[in-house]
Amino acid sequence: MIIVMGAGASKQQIENVIEKVHSFGLRTHPIYGVQKTVIGIVGDDKTRVVEKMQGMPGVEDIIPILQPYKFAGREAHPENTVLEVGGARIGGDAVVVIAGPCAVESESQLLETARSVKKAGADILRGGAFKPRTSPYSFQGLGEEGLKYLAEARDETGLPIITEVTDPRNVELVSRYADILQVGARNMQNFALLTEVGMSGHPVMLKRGLSSTIKDLLLAAEYVIIEGNRDIVLCERGITTFETYTRNTLDLSAVAVIKQLSHLPVIADPAHATGRNNLVEPMALAAIAAGADGVMVEVHNDPDSALCDGPQSLTLAQFDSLMDKVRAIAGVVGRKMEP
Ligand code: PEP
Ligand code: MN
Repeated sequence: MIIVMGAGASKQQIENVIEKVHSFGLRTHPIYGVQKTVIGIVGDDKTRVVEKMQGMPGVEDIIPILQPYKFAGREAHPENTVLEVGGARIGGDAVVVIAGPCAVESESQLLETARSVKKAGADILRGGAFKPRTSPYSFQGLGEEGLKYLAEARDETGLPIITEVTDPRNVELVSRYADILQVGARNMQNFALLTEVGMSGHPVMLKRGLSSTIKDLLLAAEYVIIEGNRDIVLCERGITTFETYTRNTLDLSAVAVIKQLSHLPVIADPAHATGRNNLVEPMALAAIAAGADGVMVEVHNDPDSALCDGPQSLTLAQFDSLMDKVRAIAGVVGRKMEP
């Protein structure tokens, strides 16, 4: 259920309405828009009691929300959400490019890659310090040491940083360094982690699970939002299908579908979707053409010696050339890019 406050509703009237809803034992999620304030109400069937509030001063309308993802959906929030993170704007007119190594391996590897992607025009630097690996024997990441190198790379290049948090107990630690917390595909339905990143109030990028539907993804976002954190970016990173040629199958239609269903920005990750370096560029360009708000790609200063995901990582030169094409496609579909 949402209560739409009239354009002229006063602060006091909004507060009175919120107080009244709380008196029914329900939680509120106000969205303060430029024109109007919308108060979202969560609960179960009990939310119908708020229908009685139709006559309260300042209330314009009371509308049931039919979409199951109450706050991630466009019903409650028709305008696109735009996140401002360390100088980058995600979900606005410009296409955003997130680039960097799969894993932070050393100070020199990260800094060399960071300088190069910055020079080529990347907006955000990525790098995993806590790596969720299929095998427990694979490189697991440098942990806090890796976070320190990321912070150093941000200081030097000015690029905001995104890195994955895999454990609710590390959310506070990772939040001390990262500008955006990444929740990986394998953790998309780790509800304890979603609640914790929600409570952190830090911007979050939520990656679609390998076998998750679009609805599952939007409901996972809902777990973050109901903790009061609306700074969420969704990421299509490929799903499991019967196809074996590529690592996963990039579900490009999901990009267009999510843009229709939700106000949250959508990023595509063609690296994890395809697992192949020579497919990253065509799928990145296709994702932007399909309406993605940006792409995330893996870039390494020496992919052949990468400790993680070398086969899907772009060389520094390949990334440079990708950027030129991303700019061209962005222009064709009416998106500009930050200079
Ligand atoms: C990553 O982006 O580093 C990653 C591990 O991706 P995913 O969770 O999509 O597999
Ligand atoms: Mn990777």
